[in-house]
Amino acid sequence: MSGGARAVARCDALGVAPYSDMEGGLYRGYLNPSYTAAQDALAGWMAQAGMAVYRDAAANLIGRYDGTQPGAPALLIGSHLDSVRDGGRYDGPLGIMLGLEAVAALHQSGKRLPFPIEVIAFGDEEGSRFPAAMLTSRAVAGTLAPEALDIADADGVSLSQAGVSLSDYLSAARGPGTTLAYLEAHIEQGPVLEADGLAVGTVTGIAAQLRYQAVIKGMAGHAGTSSMPLRRDAVAGAAEMILAIEKIARADASDLVATVGRIEALPGAPNVIAGEVRFTIDIRSGEEARRDRAAEAILDALASIANHRDLNYAIQRVHDLPASPCDPALMDLMDAATADAGYPIRRLVSGAGHDAMVMAALCPTAMLFIRCKHGISHNPAEHVDPADADVALQVMLGFIDRLGATFDPA
Ligand SMILES: [Zn+2]
Repeated sequence: MSGGARAVARCDALGVAPYSDMEGGLYRGYLNPSYTAAQDALAGWMAQAGMAVYRDAAANLIGRYDGTQPGAPALLIGSHLDSVRDGGRYDGPLGIMLGLEAVAALHQSGKRLPFPIEVIAFGDEEGSRFPAAMLTSRAVAGTLAPEALDIADADGVSLSQAGVSLSDYLSAARGPGTTLAYLEAHIEQGPVLEADGLAVGTVTGIAAQLRYQAVIKGMAGHAGTSSMPLRRDAVAGAAEMILAIEKIARADASDLVATVGRIEALPGAPNVIAGEVRFTIDIRSGEEARRDRAAEAILDALASIANHRDLNYAIQRVHDLPASPCDPALMDLMDAATADAGYPIRRLVSGAGHDAMVMAALCPTAMLFIRCKHGISHNPAEHVDPADADVALQVMLGFIDRLGATFDPA
């Protein structure tokens, strides 16, 4: 079996009990019994691949493959082991399994790099059990505040009751200068690579994101007795606004995306004209300036529609995440490794968040996206072709090789 096929098969193996806490599907919450079982399986595979295995204070599992130069900073390769409820088998684990396969290939050929390689399986990226996302990569990157640990799951079980020591937790942080780079392979979770007929792509960074909460107020009224010209219908106004948002995003033929994902009409009765509508707006782009220009155009359009329809409105910015660019020099290495392997170079932005965006606070980061069928993710239908995983593995090995060649211990 090829390394890529084995990586995919291992993700499949972890997709069922005892590695899932859900009947007939995959749910693996951080620190759940399924999580511990998956760590145990992974630890065995890491040891087989020639790694020394340990668990850090944030309950991340790490396999270490030593380098030739003592004290050299480590290349970290990883992704997350946790999974959303009824999720797919590859979102997260595939990046870990491919890191593992990269080391297995080096080990088998007796090759060591000047620097150590550590394959890290992050415990929480998805907020799979506790109301906090990327808890464990934030612990490793050293960006986690102690207050962030004061959380409990839906059953009221605190983080410490779930089996980690809160006083030790932040010691999972890696010191500055200890980490050479962070490499994460991940399924694209979108349709771009598939549309272009490509197995892999170099990620340029994680998109900048803005989120707004809009409240539109008109006048509630009787659906039977209020004549059309006199209405101040908040739903009809919101509908026009939502179409305007879509039109603005579509007109920008770049990586810009805008979404109204939640809408609520009040009072919400079939025989009442809605007096109030609330909806969310999510705007993302790899470039902050582009995102902000679109946001401005959207806010202008909403103001003009509200004015025209005599509606009152309030729009609150609830979320502003800056872009997290990947390291330009590492992107070049990834492109070169892709070309070496005989595949076309494609760069694309990640619209979704990943551990890499957190790790960027600690060290330069690189990400490789892998095609997934129809772009489907967070869904049991998530699918990756083992041949694509093999391409990713080949590119990752080329990347590691080139990183070794450029490594300057001074
Ligand atoms: Zn993921």
